[in-house]
Amino acid sequence: MQQIYESLPRELRFIQTPGEIQEAYNQSWGWFTSRKELLVEIFQQQRKLAGEVAVVFLGRPYVIMDPVLNKNIPQRFNELGIHTFFQDMLPPTEIGADSPGSDFIDWNHWKYGGQILAAAEYVGKSPGLYPVYLSAFKCSPDAFVLNYFKEIMDAYRKPYLILQIDEHGSAVGYETRIESVVETFRNHFRQNSPVPRQRARHHVSRLPFRGETILVPNYDPLSCSLICAAFEHGGFRARLIEETPITVVSSLRLNDGQCLPLSCIVQGIVETIGKYRLKPENTALYLNAIVQNACNLPQYPLMAKKLLEQRGDGFEKVKVFASEFEMKGLALELIHDVYCSYLLGGLLRKIGCRLRPYESNSGQTERVIEGARLRLSRCIATGEPKEAVFREIVAGFSRIPLADRPGTRPKVAIIGDLYVRDNEAFNQGLIADLEKYGAEVVIVPFTYVIRLILDRDIRSLWEDGRYISVMGNKLLAEVLETAERRFYQVSRDILHEDFPTFDDAIFDCLKKYHVSLSHGGETAQNILKIFSLLRHYPDIALFIHVNPLFCCPALVSEALFKTIEKDIGIPIVSLMYDGTTGRQNETLAPYLHYITRARTE
Ligand code: SF4
Repeated sequence: MQQIYESLPRELRFIQTPGEIQEAYNQSWGWFTSRKELLVEIFQQQRKLAGEVAVVFLGRPYVIMDPVLNKNIPQRFNELGIHTFFQDMLPPTEIGADSPGSDFIDWNHWKYGGQILAAAEYVGKSPGLYPVYLSAFKCSPDAFVLNYFKEIMDAYRKPYLILQIDEHGSAVGYETRIESVVETFRNHFRQNSPVPRQRARHHVSRLPFRGETILVPNYDPLSCSLICAAFEHGGFRARLIEETPITVVSSLRLNDGQCLPLSCIVQGIVETIGKYRLKPENTALYLNAIVQNACNLPQYPLMAKKLLEQRGDGFEKVKVFASEFEMKGLALELIHDVYCSYLLGGLLRKIGCRLRPYESNSGQTERVIEGARLRLSRCIATGEPKEAVFREIVAGFSRIPLADRPGTRPKVAIIGDLYVRDNEAFNQGLIADLEKYGAEVVIVPFTYVIRLILDRDIRSLWEDGRYISVMGNKLLAEVLETAERRFYQVSRDILHEDFPTFDDAIFDCLKKYHVSLSHGGETAQNILKIFSLLRHYPDIALFIHVNPLFCCPALVSEALFKTIEKDIGIPIVSLMYDGTTGRQNETLAPYLHYITRARTE
């Protein structure tokens, strides 16, 4: 309520008290609930009059209720003598543990997604009701929900129609499909077949499987290989999922509109299991993906399990285990080691970006990084003290001869999707290309983002008056900051930069773009990354926003960047990696050419 109050224009806040807003909210909620009950009554009355076959429209209300977006499709059904209803009109339905949709509804983190799946369950069970799903072109959340929807309908052996609305299709294009599906619905009803129910199981565990080989996604070969070592120290067998440019291309076969990283992970599992002759039944994918976030990440565990089952050939036996971001339920030492893996992997990459463009002997920094990765893997797997080993490693880096002083090239920061930023197979060697074009790259390590989000959450919780949670998060933030500072201090002579911290001014930037502290998705994070990086590196000359095919938040970010670019006076270039082999990074060469030329003029 406080948030609603504070979001009001200043003049309205003077004339309305928070108590009046609360009262208005209660009244409107009461009105809304009574209207909803009325809709259910109308459905029940009309269903009796509706004849044998009727259609329920499933989908997002802003698509189905809008006469432009829905292209008058409901009226087409009416013209064929079919009554139509919307999912909001259906009475609540019981979803038992054996219902075909129960796994999907349990794992679903979207409001409309949940409503669509519950409606699919109701329609599946109701003789004479048939679903028509209207989806908007390129909606990647729908790509997940549609997949679940199809499985629910298959379990109920019910025909259905899915129509994807785009800006080009005229209503005429849909007519043939509507006519034929009406016939199909009528035939199905006439057959009057009993509804067979097959419960498909897509079990995802929330705890690791002892005795199985844990497969770790490879979105950052440095950090993720150290995470494998952390699992080994915790008493598990672990293997990094291997990923090459061919993996990315091949993964397109598994993809029907979901975020591309998900299909890459599954394709990588297939290739890694084949290459190392592992038994699928003795392996388990680990996904650190349970998070309340406005993107598709929380759907990865269930969808990965489904994709493995659809792939078949034994891969359906690969288990999946998923944890919350905080890895609750796992041993504290394992959580600490995983955090240190992200931290040390991020620092290795950061040091590499600082030194490599200026090295005298080409390739030397890469060789030192590889030696450091192996040394840190051993250190984490055997439980050696990490700080002493890291000191040795930093000493090794400081012996690399340099031909030029670090910091003299234009700085280019890479922001965007976690899976793409540090994944050379996916981003086609972005850092190497940028260095070839004359840049010094600024990366955003995962631990940087975690601390940034934690700081944002503390402010958001404070605004909500949840002071106990504020204390818990503050304590965690302090622990992480203290650990990270120690390692930063060790590498200070190479990095020559202050430890990054985040003040109120950075979070205030969100307001300017009408984003609140409680917006937790990738777009809000991108804004915070830009403004916090600028605070830390005021001389950044170019931002590169990387994202994978079918990433919705990336499209929203891109739309906002037009305004942000003007505000900060620095170009932001978005690169979308679509799984094909076209050289995306080449578009950056002219930017670097002109930025470098401007610096020398
Ligand atoms: S950030 Fe984009 S690609 Fe990554 S999980 Fe979220 S929606 Fe998918």
